[in-house]
Amino acid sequence: MANPVCEKCKNEISPIDVVSCPNCDKKYHSWCWMSVPNCIGCGTFNKDYMKEKINKATVNINTNVKDRSASNEKVVAMDSGMFSNIGEKLKGWARAYFVISVVIAIIAVIATFIIDLFLFPAIVGVAIGIVLSAWIMSLILYAFGELVANSKESKIIQREILEELKKEK
Ligand SMILES: [Zn+2]
Ligand SMILES: [Zn+2]
Repeated sequence: MANPVCEKCKNEISPIDVVSCPNCDKKYHSWCWMSVPNCIGCGTFNKDYMKEKINKATVNINTNVKDRSASNEKVVAMDSGMFSNIGEKLKGWARAYFVISVVIAIIAVIATFIIDLFLFPAIVGVAIGIVLSAWIMSLILYAFGELVANSKESKIIQREILEELKKEK
């Protein structure tokens, strides 16, 4: 049986290198298929083409670590001021909030121990309550800060992929 002919370059395709359009079953060399945005036969949007583009863009980004951190610095510099890097700040506040609460609880327990032993058990209970609620609150705050920081990071990566794709056109 004769080898199929590639829809793009019109040359024969060896059986190990053949790719078919998922819609119309037209044959391509694997590298020819990667280079057509739409199937030449039926015009179907080629998902593999887009995947390849994004892969290439990602590789470009990774090999260009220097440029990348430079552009990240630009983004960080762009929104400077009180609300810059809000995710990292929230995480810092979460830690500080927890530490301050624990210190206050400890001071209250020690003070009661010295001043009024009668109140001691009650104050220990209150102190444990303060530490527990501070722990939960700071966990929530920390998780939120992490979320904000991550979504910012992924926005930066998204933007870089889009820029790489634009460059390739
Ligand atoms: Zn071909
Ligand atoms: Zn097709």
